[in-house]
Amino acid sequence: MKKLSVKLRVTIWYTVVMLVISLLTLFAVLSVSEEILIKDASERLVETTENMSRMISEPRRDDFNKMPGPRFFDKGVHTAVYDQNHELMEGSMPFDFVDEIDFADKELSTKRFNDEKFLIYTKSAYNNKNEQVWVVGVISVANETSMLYSVGKTNLCLMIVTLLVAAIGGYLIVKKALLPVNKIAETAKEISESTDLSQRICLGDGKDEIYTLANTFDEMLQKIENTLENEKNFTSDASHELRTPIAVIETECEYAIEYVNTIEEAKETFASIKRQSDKMSKLVSELLAISRMDKNTVQLNRENINLSELTEFVCDEQEEINGSSIKLSRDIDEDICVNGDRLLLTRLLINLISNAYAYGKENGNIFVSVKKDGKKALVNVKDDGIGIAEENLEKIWERFYQVDPSRTSENNSMGLGLSMVKWIAEKHDGKINVKSRLGEGSEFIFEMPLDND
Ligand code: ADP
Repeated sequence: MKKLSVKLRVTIWYTVVMLVISLLTLFAVLSVSEEILIKDASERLVETTENMSRMISEPRRDDFNKMPGPRFFDKGVHTAVYDQNHELMEGSMPFDFVDEIDFADKELSTKRFNDEKFLIYTKSAYNNKNEQVWVVGVISVANETSMLYSVGKTNLCLMIVTLLVAAIGGYLIVKKALLPVNKIAETAKEISESTDLSQRICLGDGKDEIYTLANTFDEMLQKIENTLENEKNFTSDASHELRTPIAVIETECEYAIEYVNTIEEAKETFASIKRQSDKMSKLVSELLAISRMDKNTVQLNRENINLSELTEFVCDEQEEINGSSIKLSRDIDEDICVNGDRLLLTRLLINLISNAYAYGKENGNIFVSVKKDGKKALVNVKDDGIGIAEENLEKIWERFYQVDPSRTSENNSMGLGLSMVKWIAEKHDGKINVKSRLGEGSEFIFEMPLDND
């Protein structure tokens, strides 16, 4: 059998629950009402019969005899007086009950005649002639029962109408509420069939759980699409970066085979090939580092590091490599320690300081400082070089992004350094920010928690 849809299952479930609850409530209300009505009728019956038994024993019995018949029918109660042989002496009965009556003192019983229910009360008494008689009272509870029956019938009809309205209304509401789920399923199906990740559910702004689910789904699709796009760009950028030095090496080799005659010319060619292979080797090692970063296989070898000493060391090294045309000044507070990976933090500092040299101006200045700021260590690398235009400030963190790719050949750069800096900063629970003005210089601020020990 085909499984019922969620909407039908929900509707059937709550309709059945409502039906059971309503029937139980109706049954309880009717039972209690019947009990109250019967109790009220019995009280009336007993009271009227007891009154009658008192009246027949009073001395003014002659006057009483002259009184009209309705005295024997009061408040819906028929009363009659029987002698010891159960012969009717006076009074009225709705039917000929005598054979059915159990003559016993203060006996209350229930009897059914012609499908009508009666309460009967018998009472032994003495009349004014001091003869022992039976006073019998009878009340019909047909009115009470039929009233309860019609109340029950009306309630049942109302209940059925209410249940129908609730079931239809509920079904429509559940159907409407589940529409977005169908949309989510359709979108997921379309994506899996076409692999077009640009599709979105776009339910708009809503507050319920389904809207949250749809928006989360859209965000997830956006992330997957971005990741795949980055992946594609990364592969094509990496191939492009590798193709250039290979092409140069090929050309150099072809030229050398054809035209190089002297050892000097051969040396020049080898030097050019060496430069290109250095570039390739740098690129390959950076690609390797990035792929480890992406796979999250890089394990931080955390240790207590004196960031002040490490920065001094990197500054010394960079000064040596980059010569003296740019002046590097330092303001490094002593013994600022962090808990981090020595290799990665060294790489971060090298990237920032070497960039300051690479994008600095002839005879310009670099200013490096290491300070404490509350519970953080702050490293500041500032230059008065070419600066970065505001519209490019966000992009410099992307892989292979270079504001001016023509500078690549000058410093072997490939636009991977800052993406690595950002990753290293985040891995150390830190942050890296940049402030820059085109033509005026740049300032990179790296912060990470101080080592508490
Ligand atoms: P690259 O290998 O090109 O230096 P990075 O990722 O380190 O790659 O930097 C990305 C780009 O950001 C650089 O190509 C350069 O355009 C810009 N940039 C980085 N540092 C500086 C700086 N100190 N001053 C000006 N521009 C910079």
